[in-house]
Amino acid sequence: MVTISFLGGCREVGRSAVLVESKNGIKCMLDYGIRFRGEERFPTNTNLENLKAIALSHSHIDHSGALPILYKNRKVPFFTNSISLMTAEILIRDMIKISNYPFNFGYRELEYLKENSYFLLNKTRQKISDNFYITFLDAGHIPGSVSILLEVDHKKILYSGDINTQITNLIFPANTANIPEIDALIIESTYSLKEHPPRDQLEKKFVEKIIDITDNGGSVLIPAFGVARSQEALLILEKYNYNGKVFMDGLARKIAKLYLSYPDSIKNIKAFRKALKKTQFVSKPKTRSKIKNSNGVIISPSGMLKGGPAIDYIQSILPDPLSAVYLVGYQVEGTPGRTLLDEGIFEFKDSRRNKNYSLDLRVNAKCTYDYFDFSSHSDKIHLHNYIESLNFQRNSNKDVFCIHGDNKSTTSLASELVKNDYNSVAPETGEIYQI
Ligand SMILES: [Zn+2]
Ligand SMILES: [Zn+2]
Repeated sequence: MVTISFLGGCREVGRSAVLVESKNGIKCMLDYGIRFRGEERFPTNTNLENLKAIALSHSHIDHSGALPILYKNRKVPFFTNSISLMTAEILIRDMIKISNYPFNFGYRELEYLKENSYFLLNKTRQKISDNFYITFLDAGHIPGSVSILLEVDHKKILYSGDINTQITNLIFPANTANIPEIDALIIESTYSLKEHPPRDQLEKKFVEKIIDITDNGGSVLIPAFGVARSQEALLILEKYNYNGKVFMDGLARKIAKLYLSYPDSIKNIKAFRKALKKTQFVSKPKTRSKIKNSNGVIISPSGMLKGGPAIDYIQSILPDPLSAVYLVGYQVEGTPGRTLLDEGIFEFKDSRRNKNYSLDLRVNAKCTYDYFDFSSHSDKIHLHNYIESLNFQRNSNKDVFCIHGDNKSTTSLASELVKNDYNSVAPETGEIYQI
């Protein structure tokens, strides 16, 4: 009997955390993330006695952000890989620095986390305890991302993490070949109700529109997540031989430099190096004001326009009918990015940006704005194909737990799967299952 406790990331995207426990009470934590809204930002509390391992699927903050809490007064092996640890460290440091939320941990716990980390190679079986093993498998979501196969008391459980089985430019997609027969699956559901547009056409349209704007004297701001999406956008420009000026700022710049040290995690490191060579990195406010009207492309976080250097740039782009803002990631409701897309208005408030002034903006956009769905999650069809491609043990219940998606995405995926003879549920936070 294996016990699975869902501590967060249930019917929501944020604070992903799943605790797996053997019949002898040995525990392994899969991810420990945070969410940025509401009162409860951390995974729900549970008894962590006998926690023998913590394993990370990937560095995104909704999976890694709360990890330091687990190192307040505990010494547990943290299984990850080098690129995920380095990226998570950058993101967690940034989160502690810019957030006004009172975190009950700091840089010290982050150091403890690092001191306890062990790097696992994909497809290498790691023993946690007797009859308790984990294996990392490529997940195709961002550089370093993995799915985690657990073998507990002779039961095999696959935790997908965030996965992508579709072609992108930055990394190779996930591959389900050689995954052994499983007893249960814990799967993300982010895009279980949505189909992504054909990638090739979308990329072409994206670059054509950019060329059109910059050839006519405008600038294009691409607010993008610093991890993976910014670099993906850059590679698309490179692929279609965009020869205008390209600037990269903020976390996007830091992460791009980091990726250069991990050539094996990048699909085409030559193309990536070439693209970066042509890119001008920006870090100083003085340079920022110079390039604002440079007829170039500016790639800068944050992806939903909630902060970051993108806020500096957008103020000169918005009033200019010749310029454009092209969003390249999903825009959560209530974010400035979503309001811009839905209403053509940019609203932004921040009192902490600079000690001497606060920002309170409400601007009608005169520039062009659009959304390009360059997702790094499998969409509806590909999620179903992924699940169908997995083999379940003949005597298993075919348990599938649908997590990491809003209420509708997780519950709809679970009911679709029930129709296809899976024993599927969308657990709620705090629920415990036994398989
Ligand atoms: Zn992710
Ligand atoms: Zn996620």
